Parts: sequence; structure tokens; C-alpha cells
Amino acid sequence: MTEAAGKSDRVPAPARIGRREPSKLTFEWQDGVENAATAAEIRRGCPCAHCVDEHTGRAILDPASVPDHLTQTEVSLVGNYAIGIVFSDGHRTGIFTWANLRRISDASDL
Ligand SMILES: [Zn+2]
Repeated sequence: MTEAAGKSDRVPAPARIGRREPSKLTFEWQDGVENAATAAEIRRGCPCAHCVDEHTGRAILDPASVPDHLTQTEVSLVGNYAIGIVFSDGHRTGIFTWANLRRISDASDL
């Protein structure tokens, strides 16, 4: 976790996170980039111990098991470095750092 924290320091916090659509988050980053990701894409990038093996770093979560129509039901700020998201499938243990969100949203097809 210390490694990830070091990396996330280099990604500025988003100036704005938009959640007008229930299945999508939009980001306005402080470097001027605006992008977005679906709740399903974010859920598939969940770094929690239920989704990624803590010791080997291998994915436990089968991305195909996450439905494309997934929505986020709750979004809350975690410190000043991440957000916690509750998804409509009940998953709520993921903490998404700015660096992780930026990686996911940059890779998104949206
Ligand atoms: Zn997870």
C-alpha cells in the first residue's frame, strides 16, 4: 500500500467528480484533462482484497462477472487521496485512489 500511495502523490486530485448519471463518473482533472468511466469499468479495477490477491497481486475478480449496467449507489471521499464507492451489486470495500481512477478513466472507451 505504501508503494501505491507514493505513486498516487503524482496524480493531482480531480477538481470535480460528476455523478449525474448513475452508471458513470466524470472527472475534471487539475491538469485540464476531462474524462469518464462507467461504474462497471471502475468496479473491474477495484484493488480491494476481495478483488485482487494481496500477496501475488493477481486478479481474483472475473471482469465478466461485473454487469455493464452496474451503477454506483454511493460515492464518498476518503481522506484527500481517494474515493470509496458502493456499487449496485453490494460491493463496497474498494478504495479508489486518484492514480487508479485516472488509469481506469484514461483507458475507458467513453
Ligand atoms: Zn473489490
